[in-house]
Amino acid sequence: SLTIGIVGLPNVGKSTLFNALTKNDVLAANYPFATIEPNVGVVGVPDARLVKLAEIFSSERTVPATVSFVDIAGIVRGASEGQGLGNKFLANIRESDAICQVIRAFEDPDVVHVDGKVSPKDDIETINTELILADLQTIEKVLPRLTKEARLVKDKQAVLAAVEEAQKVLEEGRTVFSAGLDPEPLRELHLLTAKPFLYVFNVDEDELVDEAVKDNLRALVAPAEAIFLNAKIESELIELDAEEALELLQSMGQAESGLDQLARVGFNTLGLQTYLTAGPKESRAWTIRKGATAPEAAGVIHTDFQKGFIKAEVISFDDLVAAGSVTEARAQGKARMEGKDYVMQDGDVVEFRFNV
Ligand code: GDP
Repeated sequence: SLTIGIVGLPNVGKSTLFNALTKNDVLAANYPFATIEPNVGVVGVPDARLVKLAEIFSSERTVPATVSFVDIAGIVRGASEGQGLGNKFLANIRESDAICQVIRAFEDPDVVHVDGKVSPKDDIETINTELILADLQTIEKVLPRLTKEARLVKDKQAVLAAVEEAQKVLEEGRTVFSAGLDPEPLRELHLLTAKPFLYVFNVDEDELVDEAVKDNLRALVAPAEAIFLNAKIESELIELDAEEALELLQSMGQAESGLDQLARVGFNTLGLQTYLTAGPKESRAWTIRKGATAPEAAGVIHTDFQKGFIKAEVISFDDLVAAGSVTEARAQGKARMEGKDYVMQDGDVVEFRFNV
């Protein structure tokens, strides 16, 4: 499954955040015999639709989609040259499907900053510089071979052109992702900065509701998504029951915890979406990539569902809730029969028909 690598300079609140994440670990909670990797946290993607479906279908339980976070230690200045845990760091990040940077924005004289001052802009630059340098090294290594191949193989010309453009962008100090380059022709290079990025700003409590501060930070990382949270508060929220947690959040002007936002935005950043199934046993969100067809979606439940796919009965979540039941939705003509070319839409509630 796809994973998001969490990176950040020392003392920015990564461990605090990651510990809170792993307290939420759905693997640990639901699969007591699963092998839990110490640096991996698997969290549920909050989805209010599941609660509603469970009501309509009297489901015994709800099963959310999940997203996996990997704690990647070792980014320091010079990591691209093997400083600190440099090489291990680069290898770990290469295996991630998206990169989540944790950036310190909180002020606290008791918590030392590696560079002596709190500056989100400088910290983002420090991290991105290491990733950019690593990518430039990768490109310099493959360019001679690629240039030769492009002379012989026509298909390679597009790859060479894309790589040269990436090199130019990187030399300007920009990431491939923020420059909006198409990652497809670059895929064989496994560039770090071609992965989707998202940013977590660890802010002071009063900044959680300070739109001006948040806008400034957002501007530093656009087009990447930014999440604002306070890691210490997140680690307290996780110890409370749902009602108390909501009360604390509301007292701070928040509708949702930072961890929940992170799960949601992270899932989205990975290019994933869900569709829903529901019955008396469970209401469940299944993970597919955006643009997946109905048979591909069926294959996520079972490969036999994909092989034997006939059609899918689809009701959009809103239509189903408005009708109150599947029977009523059918009577209203809201249930559609979709074939093998149907592209799944977010919020589709589905029942597959298949041959066994
Ligand atoms: P890491 O090195 O990035 O993993 O950082 P840690 O999670 O170990 O945090 C470093 C120090 O900062 C610890 O003493 C934390 O208690 C503290 N810390 C983490 N998050 C916050 C925060 O949001 N506000 C304040 N004031 N301190 C924090």
